[in-house]
This record gives sequence, C-alpha cells and structure tokens, in this order.
Amino acid sequence: MNLSERPVDDIYGVGPTQAELLHQHQLHTVEDVLLYFPFRYEDYSIRDIREAVDGEAVTVVGTVQTQPLVKFFGKKKSKMTVKLLSGGQLIALLFFNQAFHKAKLQIGATVTANGKWNRARAELTVTKLTVGDTAEKSARVPVYPAKGELTSAKFKRIIDTALQSFGDDVEEFLPEEMLHAYKLPVRKHALQELHLFTSASQLKHARRRFVYEEFLLFQLKMQLFKHHERQASVGVATTIDNEAIEGFMATLPFSLTKAQERVLNEIFTDLKAPYRMNRLLQGDVGSGKTIIAAIALLSVVLSGKQGAMMVPTEILAEQHWQSLTALLDATGVTVGLLTSSLKAAAKRDMLHALKEGYIDIIVGTHALIQEQVEFKDLGLVITDEQHRFGVRQRRVLRDKGAVTDVLYMTATPIPRTLAISVFGEMDVSTIDELPKGRKPIETYWVKPDMMERVLSLISKELNAGRQAYVVCPLIEESEQLDVQNAIDVHQQLHTYFQDQFNVGLMHGRLDAKEKEAVMKQFTAGEVDLLVSTTVVEVGVNVPNATLMVIYDAERFGLSQLHQLRGRVGRGEHQSYCILLGDPKSDTGKERLQIMTETEDGFALSERDLELRGPGDFFGDKQSGLPEFRLGDMVHDYRALEVARKDATELVASAAFWEDDLYGPLREKLRREDAFFSTKLD
Ligand code: ADP
Ligand code: MG
Repeated sequence: MNLSERPVDDIYGVGPTQAELLHQHQLHTVEDVLLYFPFRYEDYSIRDIREAVDGEAVTVVGTVQTQPLVKFFGKKKSKMTVKLLSGGQLIALLFFNQAFHKAKLQIGATVTANGKWNRARAELTVTKLTVGDTAEKSARVPVYPAKGELTSAKFKRIIDTALQSFGDDVEEFLPEEMLHAYKLPVRKHALQELHLFTSASQLKHARRRFVYEEFLLFQLKMQLFKHHERQASVGVATTIDNEAIEGFMATLPFSLTKAQERVLNEIFTDLKAPYRMNRLLQGDVGSGKTIIAAIALLSVVLSGKQGAMMVPTEILAEQHWQSLTALLDATGVTVGLLTSSLKAAAKRDMLHALKEGYIDIIVGTHALIQEQVEFKDLGLVITDEQHRFGVRQRRVLRDKGAVTDVLYMTATPIPRTLAISVFGEMDVSTIDELPKGRKPIETYWVKPDMMERVLSLISKELNAGRQAYVVCPLIEESEQLDVQNAIDVHQQLHTYFQDQFNVGLMHGRLDAKEKEAVMKQFTAGEVDLLVSTTVVEVGVNVPNATLMVIYDAERFGLSQLHQLRGRVGRGEHQSYCILLGDPKSDTGKERLQIMTETEDGFALSERDLELRGPGDFFGDKQSGLPEFRLGDMVHDYRALEVARKDATELVASAAFWEDDLYGPLREKLRREDAFFSTKLD
C-alpha cells in the first residue's frame, strides 16, 4: 500500500486518541506524518561544560556524586537534584517531574544528560537522561512544531516509529536524471536525514531535495492547470482590426513606449488565440497601463463584442470612465458607468442597454460581476488594481465570465517570486519602462519635529497654485496606536491655513457620494490640500498635485508608500514626497531610507518582500500565498525559479505525458489532486 493511503493508525503505538489528534492537524496518512518536518535541531553536541553558553542546550557526560534528593509537590509534581562530576567540574542536575530516573542515579554511575545549562548556578535542567556515555548518538535532536497536545517529543516518538516501520517504503518519484542533474539525494534518504540529522551537509542536501520537490509539484499543478485551460479551448478567437487600431493610435499625442508595444502584442496574441486569456499586466504607477487597456477594449469592441473594466472603488470607476471616454471619444465607442450611486431607473436603463448591446464598454466596481449584470456579448474583462480583489475574487470572476478573456492590471509591481507562485497560473506582462521626460519625485524623510518646515513647503506649493495630499494611517484617534489620524490632522491643517487655502478631508468611512464630492472638488482644484487615509492610494490622477506628505510613514509597507508617492509627479511640475516618521527599529529606518533613494517600483517591491515576508506583502490574508512545508519563497527563490522552468518544459514535452520515466511523477500528481487525476488520464 502506498504511504499516502496508509492511515496514521498503522503506525505502531498510534491509538485512536492519538490518531484523532493527528487528524485534527490535517495529518491523515503515514506520508503526512513522515512529511511533518522539524523546524530546528537542538544542538546537544557540546560536551565540555566549561564551553557551554548560558541558557544553551548541552549534553554532559559524568559520574554521579551524591544520592538524588527528591521533593514531591502534590500527586504528580516533583523536583529532584543530584550532583554530577563532569569534565572535572561539579555541577547540579535538576529534574522536574522525572523522579522515575532516580534508580539510574547510583553513586559512581556514568550517565549522559541533555538539558538547558544555567551557568551562574552551574546547574543543568535535564530533559533527557540515559545511562552510560551515549553523547554521540544524541548530538542533535529534532524539534517539531508542537500542535496542542502533540508536543515535539510526542511527534518525535511517532515519527521515529513510522520511520522504523515504513522508512524503507518511501518511494522516489523524480527521475534519476533529475536527481543527478541537481545532485539531490533520493527521497528515502533525504527524508530520514531531515528527521535524524546525521551531518550539516547531508541535512542541507536533504532540505534542498524536499524544497525542490514541493516547488516542482506546485509549479507542475500550475502549469497543468494552464495547459488544460488552453486545451479546453473555451475561449473565442477575436479578430483584431489592425488598421483601425493603428488609425486610433495615430490620434494619440504620443507614441507607445517599447514596453507598451510589447505588452500590447502579448495581449493581442491572447485575444487572437482560441484559448481564454488569463493575463496579469503589471506596470509601475504612470507607466501607461490605461492606454493599453483602452486599446485592448477598443479592439474587442471593433470585433463586435463588449468590454468591461472593473475597479475596486467608485472613485476609480469614475476616473477610468472619464479617461476611457476621453480617449475613445473620436472612435464612436460608447462607454457606460455603473456604480451603486446610480438611481434605480438609470441603473435599469444601463442594464438594459448592456443587455441589448447599446453600450460597448462598461466601467464599474466588482459589483459588475457579482450582481446579475447581463451582457449581449462580453468579450473582455479588465480589472484594475487586481491585487485588491484577492485570489478568491479572481476565481469568481473567471468562473462567471466562462468564455471571457481576462486581463488583470496592477500598479503594485509584483516581486518575481510572487509573480511565479501566487500568480503562477497566469501569464504575466510587464511594462518596465516609463514614458520619456518624467521628472523624478524628490523624496525626503523627516522627523516629526520638523513639522514647521513641512508646513512651509506645503504653503510654498499651494501658493504657487499647486495642490497637495496629506496621508495618515488611521481615520480616528486610537488609544492603542499613537498615530496621527486624518480627522485630527484635517482639523489642525484647517486651523493653520484658515482662510488661505481649502483643506478637504477624505476617508473610507465617508459614503460614496461624500467621497465623490470631495474628490471632484480636489480634481477641479477647489480643494487645495487633501487630507486623506490611504483611500487615495489607488489610481487617483490629479496632475496639478505636486506634494505628498505621509504621516507615520513607518507604518506603511514600501509598496504602499510607493503607491502613495505615485499620486504626485503626474504633471509637468517638479513633485515632492515627504515621509514623516520616527521609526524605532533598524528595518523601519532602512525602509524610509530606501524610499528616498529609489523610485523603481520593482526594486522596492523586492525589498518590501524581503523586509516583510510574503505573508505581509499583500497586507491581507486572502492573498492566496501557497504554503510550503520547507520551501521559503523568498530565500529559496532560485529553486522556485528552476522548478517553474522545469515544470513548464515538462508539461510541454511529450515525455512527461508518455514516458515511463515520468510514470511515478504522474502517479504522484494524480494522487495529490483530484482535479489532476482526471486530467492526467
Ligand atoms: P498607469 O495607469 O500605468 O498609472 P496611465 O495610463 O494613467 O498610467 O498613464 C500616465 C500618463 O502617461 C497619462 O497621462 C498617459 O496619457 C501618459 N502616457 C501613457 N503612455 C504614454 C507614452 N507612451 N508616452 C507619453 N505619455 C504616455
Ligand atoms: Mg492607472
């Protein structure tokens, strides 16, 4: 029987109670248990107590010098002490609730004790005691992540037993050539090494093997998914009217950058192909994604279909609607806007027009998809700032628009490691070039005690006719967090600038109408200074705004700061970004420092990921980050990349599907995932 089919009860000593505990932690089979790896190894290898560091785990070998002294507290609790001569030094051994060791502690007996060393008291709190000199064998002890009642020691006992009975049955599923090429140990040996630790170098290779294994399986699933989406050919081939598109581009006041041309071709290739497009378009703020979206939508409309543009907020919907309307004005294409603030009758009309096909392109929030919106013939859905939708919405969208091409746009440059994991089942297009002539935004990091100078900079810009943003992390005062908040700051600045300038306030708790009103005033230049929470983060485009002041900047991630900074520098005037912050930690300081040094969104996103880790990168738990047992997406990036490349090549090769060499690997995939079990046959 395969180990992935053997229940945990088959492990000797695992009864119903323990099996139930294992099940509770998603460990159902012997294979699951064997793949439950230690997260570190206690180093008990130091034998000379004089070299032991205080608080460290050590192993000592010595002879018992005194009668053990036992004190009982209640029924079960006890404390036992005994003196031991080890390496010429007399030390105390301390045992809690282990009075059962007493018989072994005969005066003159040699014992080996593992435990934690207290240097000042020359005392070892013993966790393990054996008779005789057994120090060699117990040099490294694996520490397993405890799960409730299942302590590390319990896991160790279960796993050791499982290894004894089933260790030899661990089957290899990677072809020998692969192991050879990457110098990876076979599965069985690698697995044992990870549990038993015989040497640092062997452990390293064992870990390498399992990291590669899980990355490869993960990437294979992604690639297989992609492969089948294409095979299924559920999409519709769109004919691109090249002449009309070129004619449209000739009306633009600029020509596309090389990067824009490249991604446009990638998108056209998908549109023309019979498979469904599932593409991520990433490009830094201001890199010109909107025009790409407009051209893609236009080409779909020219082929007789409709297009939809989904965005996370109503403000953005309005903005995109405006820019698309302006861009496509001369083409005769009709662009509609669907938001929740639409009156019932107007909404009914809009829905009717969509269904009848009177509207070519519709812009709205994701309510577009969630509600019962019907299209005459929807050909392309574009979502902007899609990382905010999260992976789950991504799936909903894909399932809803069964045959529709989907393009996801994001201005948050996605670090390579996430692009090939979280977004691994998608194709990625990158605009990695800004249109020429952009002035760099001057960025400064200042301590809050320099507020006077910040205020004078604000005055200077506003007096010159420019506008400014002030962004704060929270809406209202919070007792726990000593952070500036939008309402307070608005009050202060309003008082400070009194009759001189109009200070607006914007935050997520305003209703859609209020937000819209404030945003309109700011866009129209009626509000000079906008105090806001991060609502302004995405997409907002006011070219006359040249100054961005961010309070408590250390509270934001690098990517978010970069997004906020991208609200300025959109016009002809020199722009500035002021980061107010007094971070206490070194990484906090480093983050703000980096912000002043680079404007490269990709570089920042990579640093952000390194500093915050993948879990925090998206700032929400719904990011769809894959969970790996051993692999670390950031630190094992190279392996992830290699696995990705191998998986892509494998799926594209005939050998993977037919050759006996890959039989065990196919079998493994078949067993791991019900979805693939049907697809692989
Ligand atoms: P993004 O959506 O990527 O942040 P936008 O599409 O809003 O960027 O473009 C930012 C500005 O740059 C817009 O005013 C747009 O008209 C302009 N733009 C776009 N592409 C080019 C180009 N190739 N050359 C010059 N300006 C461009
Ligand atoms: Mg944009």
